[in-house]
Amino acid sequence: MNTKTEKQELLNKLYSKYTQCKACPLGSLVRTNVVFGEGNPNAHIMFIGEGPGEQEDRLNRPFIGRSGNLLTKVMEAAGINREDVYITNIVKCRPPKNRNPLPIEISTCVNLLLLNQIAIIKPNIICILGSVALHALLDKNISISNARGKIFKKGNIAFIPTFHPAYILRNKQQLETFFNDLVLVVKTSKMIP
Ligand code: URA
Repeated sequence: MNTKTEKQELLNKLYSKYTQCKACPLGSLVRTNVVFGEGNPNAHIMFIGEGPGEQEDRLNRPFIGRSGNLLTKVMEAAGINREDVYITNIVKCRPPKNRNPLPIEISTCVNLLLLNQIAIIKPNIICILGSVALHALLDKNISISNARGKIFKKGNIAFIPTFHPAYILRNKQQLETFFNDLVLVVKTSKMIP
């Protein structure tokens, strides 16, 4: 088992390999930065969203715009410190006009980057934020409304899907459900040593 420092070094090495990535179309469109992800390299919990937006692309940090602020607040309310977890996205480059990433962009980025990040960090829990991440990581045939709030065990990892925070910004009546899903993430992390 690698130490926290070793995991950070492995993540740095992986990132430095892809800072100029052009392996999929997103590399040549509007992106400024390859937004790799941030947080504790030894995290038990990973949060995985869809892809960077305008602010994330400009500042090279995941989830720091409006939906990121909401995510951070609800995480804190549920008892999760942003610095304790690792936050990243399915695709690391901003899609033009924030469109959904295409299947080729998703499969390329997941295979080159995300799967390696997961293999290095070795989280016990992955909180899936929204349907793009749900379909990329778990099951193409299930809706986020049906999957959210449930635990899907795959190998050593418990996947817990919930709504994307951008959806919550547009559908405030789902805020409590979103909060409850993050509480489930906390409860599950306490049950796994
Ligand atoms: N939406 C995402 O899916 N990821 C981010 O980093 C920001 C907004």
